[in-house]
Amino acid sequence: MKKIAIYGKGGIGKSTTVSNISASLASMGLVVLQIGCDPKADSTRNLTGGKNIPTVLETLRKNGDADLEELVYKSTTGVLCVEAGGPVPGVGCAGRGIITAFEKLEELDAYEKYNPDIILYDVLGDVVCGGFAMPIRGGYAEEVCIVTSGEMMSLYAASNISYAVKSFENRGYASLKGLILNAKNIEGENELVDNAAKEIETSVIYRMPRHPLVQKAEEQGKTVVEAFPDSDMAEHYRNLAKLLLDGGDAK
Ligand code: ATP
Ligand code: MG
Repeated sequence: MKKIAIYGKGGIGKSTTVSNISASLASMGLVVLQIGCDPKADSTRNLTGGKNIPTVLETLRKNGDADLEELVYKSTTGVLCVEAGGPVPGVGCAGRGIITAFEKLEELDAYEKYNPDIILYDVLGDVVCGGFAMPIRGGYAEEVCIVTSGEMMSLYAASNISYAVKSFENRGYASLKGLILNAKNIEGENELVDNAAKEIETSVIYRMPRHPLVQKAEEQGKTVVEAFPDSDMAEHYRNLAKLLLDGGDAK
């Protein structure tokens, strides 16, 4: 079982990238579990026809004894989808919510029952508080990839996240696999991200182009891989998926 967490600044393209990776791997016949760790709970939207599924925290608030089947949603693409969810606004702590959701999945033996080939965690990386760092700790994810563009703020977030990962790495937790450049087509973008990677002492494992088919697929509530399987963009997502699965190194 491979366990990978994908971090990155808000709005950088984490959920799009992760959902396309999940759909790619599911179409290759693998059992994929995608866990959205974002209070917005829209990580798996494009795997579930554009609708948000009930979150683990919501379901548990209604029924503390909910079954595993009520927390894990099997999408039409075959991906097992989980949204951790968030606290009641203004009351709870978002990080604490993620921890509660993870603990519940473990308590109900989700990993043994579904026996996924790969688990992908989609994690907002603007804040690296205890809860959001959860997927890097406690044996949840083994590897971390950070999605970034060449924009300053996303590189700043990437640097913060890598710092957090490295501080845990030393204690034997998840290790940093590298950066995924999700292009915004800004001037000198490749070089900006290459330089940032050097500074963080990591590499750029994939360069994902910006493409209008991403929005077109989104309008249909789908991933590019599902909506436009023959497109170059779908091929890019499948390549990235294979790279993560095979553990290949930077190219
Ligand atoms: P959040 O932090 O809010 O959860 P996110 O990092 O998950 O955001 P997404 O929701 O995946 O980001 O993407 C933000 C927007 O960027 C979406 O509307 C998506 O369609 C667009 N987008 C992402 N990647 C690409 C791409 N390679 N080409 C074109 N558009 C993209
Ligand atoms: Mg998202």
